[in-house]
Amino acid sequence: MQIKNYINGELVEPISNKYIENINPATGEVYSYLPDSDSRDVNKAVQAASEAFNSWSRKSAQERSQILLKIADLIEKNLDKLALAETTDNGKPLKLSKKVDIPRAVENFRFFATGIIHFASESHYQPHFLNYTLRMPLGVVGCISPWNLPLYLFTWKVAPALAAGNCVVAKPSEITPMTAYLLAELCIEAGLPRGVMNIVHGYGSTVGTAITQHPSIRAISFTGGTKTGQEIARVAAPMFKKLSLELGGKNATLVFADCDLERTIHETVSASFSNQGQICLCGSRIFVEQSIYEVFVQKFVERTKKLIVADPLDERANLGAVVSKSHYEKILSYIDLAQEEGGKILYGGKEKPVVNQRCEKGYFVYPTVITGLDAYCRTNQEEIFGPVVTIQPFDTEEEAIIFANSTQYGLAGSIWTQNLARAHRVAQAVESGILWVNCWLIRDLRTPFGGMKQSGVGREGGWEALRFFTEPKNICIQI
Ligand code: NAD
Repeated sequence: MQIKNYINGELVEPISNKYIENINPATGEVYSYLPDSDSRDVNKAVQAASEAFNSWSRKSAQERSQILLKIADLIEKNLDKLALAETTDNGKPLKLSKKVDIPRAVENFRFFATGIIHFASESHYQPHFLNYTLRMPLGVVGCISPWNLPLYLFTWKVAPALAAGNCVVAKPSEITPMTAYLLAELCIEAGLPRGVMNIVHGYGSTVGTAITQHPSIRAISFTGGTKTGQEIARVAAPMFKKLSLELGGKNATLVFADCDLERTIHETVSASFSNQGQICLCGSRIFVEQSIYEVFVQKFVERTKKLIVADPLDERANLGAVVSKSHYEKILSYIDLAQEEGGKILYGGKEKPVVNQRCEKGYFVYPTVITGLDAYCRTNQEEIFGPVVTIQPFDTEEEAIIFANSTQYGLAGSIWTQNLARAHRVAQAVESGILWVNCWLIRDLRTPFGGMKQSGVGREGGWEALRFFTEPKNICIQI
């Protein structure tokens, strides 16, 4: 099967006529091909988007909303097909694609399609003068997304961009391109006007760079690794493009002795291993108050042992395959590193899980629990982005905060305690864009989403996203 680019309302071949192999990580086999596009395809997409902008940006919010709601309905109607495509591309359990990834793509479109109808700007009156603010769409914007939550994060960017009246040139990850391709078919079916959304497939070093460098692209919304974010900022900042960068993380889970232990174990195991630990919000460093450290570790390992690593199509699978061979090798190299640094593997490790015959050559890793490391070693400082978690004890609240803040990252974290004052204190002190108290991954799409420090710049979600994708213009009138 050959994936195509979506440019100017049509599904087209890349100009190079070259294709990249697309691998199913659960089987290790090539199952489709995606365009190996380059700057020529990006130029065509930008031209189509520029031509469509005048008409799309002048449509009323209601008109744009109607079309985006239609896209949401079509995603919902095709949920099973899209979920299977996501799982085949990414390796995640099919039940997760059905329950989380695809429903969230529907929600993203519905949320911003309706949000734009309520979006308002300010006016400021003073005697004899009235100031009011217009929020104008930017023009053509670039959206670049990663492989871990493919359609979920792709639509999290394109939906607000389109709702606000922009035209989009988007690039999904070359590792998981399939659902963005299927979305293009649905955009055509929904009657999205030609050129309003364009999807160019290919490598980051060619297509991604061409989007970042293009002088007619006014803003870049990017989610991915911190190094890639730095490269994008280096190119785009001197061009004064608006930038929203959602980058890596090394999130801390802080467990205090007064937590509800059973619930905490249940939730922190999910926070460690959901989506094979490949969610930027996963808690990969767990710090536990000394007095309950031993019992926490014992119960945590017991529960982790119950997780089933299986064929992603198997209903019982808690963990499927990790996304690619190179990512699999990266995760295993960190397990080696942890041992070199003195870590003790209590469960999991490099042994290959036996799954089934279909998945003999797939990239599977057991959920892995490591103790005996300090907060400052490389294993605890660098992003692994796999099913690997470390557990360390702490003595005081102050020490827990120091450990949590000891990395270059600041995306998310969770705090487990029954002491309300402590929950507030610690949440204020931890340098992260998102903190959960006695819960994890509860998402309300109205909240600001993003990270501090090397985890990013700017926020997505709610009005933040619609503000990012619009330019405020102040108009002052003498009365
Ligand atoms: P990545 O940075 O390798 O790639 C992300 C996207 O950028 C891909 O589409 C890729 O092709 C493209 N790209 C690569 N080089 C580029 C360049 N020079 N110019 C422009 N585009 C380029 O990241 P990944 O491996 O796909 O995703 C994993 C990373 O994403 C992890 O670090 C994870 O923490 C992060 N992530 C962050 C969030 C968040 O919200 N903060 C969410 C999900 C994932």
